[in-house]
Amino acid sequence: MYRKINKLVIGTNNQGKIREIKKLLPKKIQVSTPKQLNLKSPKENGSTFLENSLIKAKYFSKKSKSICLADDSGLEIDILGKLPGIYSARWAGKKSDFRIAIRKVFKELKKNKVDWKKKIKCRFICALTIYWTSKKYYQSQGTVEGFLSDKPKGKKGFGYDPIFIPKGYKITFGQMSFSKKSRIDHRHKAFKKIRKFF
Ligand code: IMP
Repeated sequence: MYRKINKLVIGTNNQGKIREIKKLLPKKIQVSTPKQLNLKSPKENGSTFLENSLIKAKYFSKKSKSICLADDSGLEIDILGKLPGIYSARWAGKKSDFRIAIRKVFKELKKNKVDWKKKIKCRFICALTIYWTSKKYYQSQGTVEGFLSDKPKGKKGFGYDPIFIPKGYKITFGQMSFSKKSRIDHRHKAFKKIRKFF
């Protein structure tokens, strides 16, 4: 049996992620964010999503002296050798401008002379870590497969949502309602595996 968590810090400064994680968590959980606690993000020098989510969860748990739930996620594009992958946030530059990141995706695809008549396979991956003050931690990962859109579509969601078409659908995550996206996405799949703690 697990002691249910009733209070935690969401270990990210990405407001899009905070919004989505808050909606996944039961309402009764008392949530705070690094911004409210005046905490900057740590350097993410891991080589996998799981490593980076552990770095963030450990860091924010130590700084806040409370349980932390951290997410590391990103978009892997097969034809680009799985980039941007763990560099997904970094492709958006210092100001986290996702128009820049999306432009970079199209520039890299052009360099690789991609044939838009063929589907360009990609996937979103999300690694979650819960880190307790006792230094115990638990991790999970979720994936959603899909294809790239040849242009950004839709204003919903965040990050690369406007260019990601999940497998079996004709619209991008950017065109999908949150309730629909959250039923099929990587974050929800990873969250299902840690739901027992809440
Ligand atoms: P990090 O995990 O904070 O290093 O950042 C991951 C980056 O991947 C985010 O800044 C997003 O741009 C992108 N990303 C992760 N999950 C999603 C998603 O659900 N939709 C769109 N972009 C995402």
